[in-house]
This record gives sequence, structure tokens and C-alpha cells, in this order.
Amino acid sequence: MSDVVVRFPPSPTGYLHIGGARTAIFNWLFARKHGGKFILRIENTDTERSTRESVEGILDGLRWLGLHWDEGPYFQNDFHKEHIRAAQMLLEMGLAYKCFCSKEELDKRRQQALHEKRSIGYDGRCRGLSQDEVKKREKKGIPYVIRFKVPEREGKIGYDDKVLGRIEKDYSEIEDFVIVRSNGTPLYLLCNVVDDIRDGITHIIRGQDHMANTIRQLLLYEALKKTPPVFAHMPLTLDPRKRKISKRTHGEVVSVQFYRERGFLPWALVNFLVLLGWHTSDNREIFSKEELIEAFSIEGISKANSVFNFNPDDKEKIKKFFTDPKALSINAHYLRTMPVDELYEYVKEDFIKSNLWRKEYEDEKKEWFLSTIDLIRSRFHTIKDFARYGRAYFADDFPIDEKALKKNILKHPQLKALLPMLSDVLNGLETWNIELLEDIVRAFCEKEGVKPGIVINGIRTVITGQLKGPGIFDCMVAIGKDRVIKRLAHLAK
Ligand code: GLU
Repeated sequence: MSDVVVRFPPSPTGYLHIGGARTAIFNWLFARKHGGKFILRIENTDTERSTRESVEGILDGLRWLGLHWDEGPYFQNDFHKEHIRAAQMLLEMGLAYKCFCSKEELDKRRQQALHEKRSIGYDGRCRGLSQDEVKKREKKGIPYVIRFKVPEREGKIGYDDKVLGRIEKDYSEIEDFVIVRSNGTPLYLLCNVVDDIRDGITHIIRGQDHMANTIRQLLLYEALKKTPPVFAHMPLTLDPRKRKISKRTHGEVVSVQFYRERGFLPWALVNFLVLLGWHTSDNREIFSKEELIEAFSIEGISKANSVFNFNPDDKEKIKKFFTDPKALSINAHYLRTMPVDELYEYVKEDFIKSNLWRKEYEDEKKEWFLSTIDLIRSRFHTIKDFARYGRAYFADDFPIDEKALKKNILKHPQLKALLPMLSDVLNGLETWNIELLEDIVRAFCEKEGVKPGIVINGIRTVITGQLKGPGIFDCMVAIGKDRVIKRLAHLAK
């Protein structure tokens, strides 16, 4: 193992959303690329908003995506004593102080500052309180927070961001920030640093929305006499209206689970998400796991925000075409090209849920099942399509597509007599294979003086319910003689 150590530290306040998953993917890839370690840490210090279900959901989502972590999950709350000890140490070193200003006073002063067009940051009022004064107020039971004392220095603090280059901020623009609340709970800013130091984190790859935290955290590293890790801030993921994608604004359509339930393959989702904010110089789009690990580098992370192209405002549209066309096309690519025995597991899982699964698909009909899903996948985009558009191969109660009915059946009234006749002809066959079926159907058309296209399209719609599909004779073989002749005969009724 190299000395690269990265982490994914989600706050368990909701499901795993695509933004979080993308952060996890980037960190995981970086660890795998450098033979380093990928740590999972659950940042559950916000006890009011953190839930057990959310933790389960996040772990489940990461496992499903195949993002295996090397250590953890650690739970931030378990290190509470360490966080408090760090705050105490900063107090003792004179690098932090107790602030007794109440929320009401702070609000009032902020309003005043706004009115006078001054900076609204904390004015440092409690910074210079004498030891005696502090003791006196404590004795009176006045609640206090602990604030970090931002050094009074000229100039700027900064770091070299691996994505964005040099980032700097004037010391004078950073207010003394709170590290422990008045109820004694330490804040994310501090806990996160203490944990990253303990876990030996070498690189922090996270969203640009954390950049304001990074500046303040650098001050904490300095105060705690530790070298900060390397920072790389990733671009944000925006919706088509250029709003930041978030659980709060977009709800379930941005959760990993949403895509899972709609028949996405985990690796296809990983492959798609990595392209939201990272690219190779030749803008390649499809990567196997090994190829992606090989190709990934922080240098390829974009500076500009990326857009996740679903339509968040049109709920109806989401239902029909619920996601980014690129996501769908990447999913289709994997679904159509992956080894069929791998595909089998996914289709099986979905068929069990859709009540289409039969035990024989594991035994005597497994070979048939494999060749059938292999045949029909060529037009499918998601795992759900097998039950949705391929139902006729596995069950007798399947819907007939309206467009197909109009175009392939109702427009050709002669089929009402022809297809049952064809059914009788086929019923007499002793064998059932592609070549024979093709010969028979073509001969039938010639004899009846009808264009083969009309009959073939008619057969397709009657036996599969669809407008289009794989070669019709392959379909007839896959569906089987009994079902085909019954369905063709049925048209007369
Ligand atoms: N718990 C923080 C979050 O979920 C972690 C941010 C970080 O330091 O990477 O946003």
C-alpha cells in the first residue's frame, strides 16, 4: 500500500444522493489508482438530523455501487472526547476563547452592521476578556461557545488546490468561528479536522461548496501543529436550471436508490457519475473498472460545474424519461454488452420483484432464459425493460402497444383471417427453428399474395405486443411454438 489515504465522510441525514456518490467515486478511484486506502467515516455529530436508516441507506448504496472501503465505517460521535480535548487544547494554548455573546445580541449587532454597511462577521468582543471576567461569567452560569481565534496577521492564508490552483483569503476577512456550541457539542469544522488528522488523511477530494470550510480548517491544522492534507475541490453538479443539486431541492430523483429502482446497473451509474466533473483528454465515455482506475487523475477533474440533465420540474416527464440521456445511453451500453450470465442476476432480481420469476429459469429452462434475455436486450435501456417490453416472452398477459396495434394490425384488416390461417400451418410443423419458420412464413405470404412485411409486422405485434424488436424468426423460436400458435389464432376472436 502507498501512503495515500482518502476518505468519504457523509453526514447521515438522508439517502445517498448522486452528488455524494460522485464524491465517494472520486476518492475511491484515487485510492485504487495509487494503491492507497479508502476510509468511510459517518459524520453523525448532528444528532438531531442523523438517522440509523440514513446510515444503512448510505452503506447499502456504496456496496451496490461496488465502492468497497478499506476501513470503517467509523462514526464521528465515537470520537467525541478527542474533539473536546482538541478544543480544550486550543483554549489552553490561547488559540481559542470562550464567547458569552448571546444569539440575540449577535443578531442585533449583525443587523446594525448591515445597516452601517460594515462586515457582519463576529466583532471579537469576547476575545480580550480577562481570565477573571471569564470565570465570573462562568460562575453566573452564562452560556458560552468556544471560538477559534483567527490570528491577527497581515496578508493572506492560502493553499494550492489540485484542481483550482492557488486559493487565498485575507486573514482580516475571516471571523473568529465557533468550534464548540453552547451545549458542549463540537462543530463539524473541528471534528472533521481532528478525525482527518487521526485517520492520516493525505488528500481531501470534496465539493467546491466546502471551500469556505477549507480556509478555516487550514487555520485549525496550523494551530494543532499538523501539516494539512492536499485539497482538491470538485465542481458542483447542477440541474438544467443551474441550481445546485441537493436532496432538499430535488427529492428522490437525485438519490442513488432512484436509479437502482429504475433498472440502472451499478457500474453504468459509476461510469456516468464520474463523467460529471472529470474527463480524459480524448473525452472518452466508456470505461471498465480497470480502465477507469488506470485513467483517473485529479488533473482530469474539471474546474467548471457540470450539469445533470434531468428535468426537475416536469414530474410527468421524469416518469417517462426520467434522467439524463447520457446516463441512459451508458446504461444501455453495459446492458447490451455485459456477459449474459452477469445480466441474468440483475434480471432475476427484477423478475422476482415483478412476479415474473419461475424456478425453472434456474434449472431446466436456464439456457432458454439466458438466450432469450440475450436476444431481446439489443433495444433495451434499463433492467426494467425486460419486464416492461419483454413480458410477452415470459408471460401470457402482456400489453399490446397502442401504436403497434394501429400500425401493424388495425391498418391491415386482412390479418384477422391470415394470422389464424398461418397459425394452423405452423401448428402442423414438427420442428421449430429459424430457417424453417422463415421458409414457411415466406411461402405462406406468396401463396396468399400478401407482402411479407405486413405479415411479419403483424406476427410481431400479436406475439410480443411491440412495434419493433429483434429478428421475427428469432422471436418466434424464443417464445416457442405453443405460445406463438395460440397468440396468432387468438386474433380471430
Ligand atoms: N460531512 C461532510 C459532508 O457530508 C463532509 C465534508 C468533507 O469534509 O468532505 O458534507
